[in-house]
Amino acid sequence: VVTHAPDWHYLTGFTGESGVLLVAERGTTLVTDGRFTVQAKEETTGVKVVLQKGGLYASVGETIRGWKWKTAGFDPTQLTVAQFAALKRAAGSGANWKKVSGLVPALRAVKDASELEQMRKAAVLASEVVERAIGMLKPGVRELEIAAEVEFQMRKLGASGPAFQTIVAFGERAALPHARPTARKLGKNELVVLDLGAILGHYCSDITRTVYVGKAPQRVRRWYEAVLEAQQAAIQAVQDGAGWGEVDAAARDTLTRFHLDRYFVHSTGHGLGLEVHEDPRLARGQTARLVPGNVVTIEPGVYVAGVGGIRIEDDVAVHRNGNEVLTRAPRDFIEI
Ligand code: ZN
Ligand code: ZN
Repeated sequence: VVTHAPDWHYLTGFTGESGVLLVAERGTTLVTDGRFTVQAKEETTGVKVVLQKGGLYASVGETIRGWKWKTAGFDPTQLTVAQFAALKRAAGSGANWKKVSGLVPALRAVKDASELEQMRKAAVLASEVVERAIGMLKPGVRELEIAAEVEFQMRKLGASGPAFQTIVAFGERAALPHARPTARKLGKNELVVLDLGAILGHYCSDITRTVYVGKAPQRVRRWYEAVLEAQQAAIQAVQDGAGWGEVDAAARDTLTRFHLDRYFVHSTGHGLGLEVHEDPRLARGQTARLVPGNVVTIEPGVYVAGVGGIRIEDDVAVHRNGNEVLTRAPRDFIEI
């Protein structure tokens, strides 16, 4: 019982916003409402499209009861308590519910050649936009203006929209890893963090660049050097067979050498694809291993409260021999 939109999209090609996919030995059935039945028939092949009667989950439950399913697997992270209750009630006592986490996400984590091609294009588009955004930075401009321009430029270049809310953070706000853009104006001698991603042909990209407006003090230059070195070490570690946690450690150990590890407050990266955060998770303690076809971000950072932050992020694909950085923007330290 596939209840997560990116999962059924991956399995069938259906891009509608509401539905449940039932995958069984007897065949594959998509239950959806009247807004999406025509679209579902157009977008899928070999999938039976069924119009839901009443509530979606009650309707799916009744279908399962009608088919006399003995066991139904579902992803507990992709259903609310209320949805599961409706499903269970309608399916009746004949069905056994089995929690199955990560089954479709594991398939999605391995990109085929056509998905990689799409992700390359999305990454190149985001790289172009981040360079344009850097070109727009001048004292007096507001975070919100840059964010608006970023999303406008993305769409002009063909993206269907941003993959997540664009981060534009000036000065001390750059110390917040997920700062939302505000009306704050850019001053002189400030750090700027730009983190943006585009959706192109349903696939996400994600890139971060940090620049300095003015003449950077020695301390900031050292932070930048450390983050760049940590990123290079982690990119180097992105190899077929490398542990997810080992990639994280490559970045973290480098920052430790610079005595900056305590300012690195998040994990090194995440998988990227139909969603902007998916498997693999490049974090401490993760023992799973990278395989060819994985696409991950590498985004170490240093955040000093009240002062500012630095993050450098690129998208990297794992190949049988080595890796491929999909994003294209220069990573040298830029002073404007
Ligand atoms: Zn990002
Ligand atoms: Zn990211």
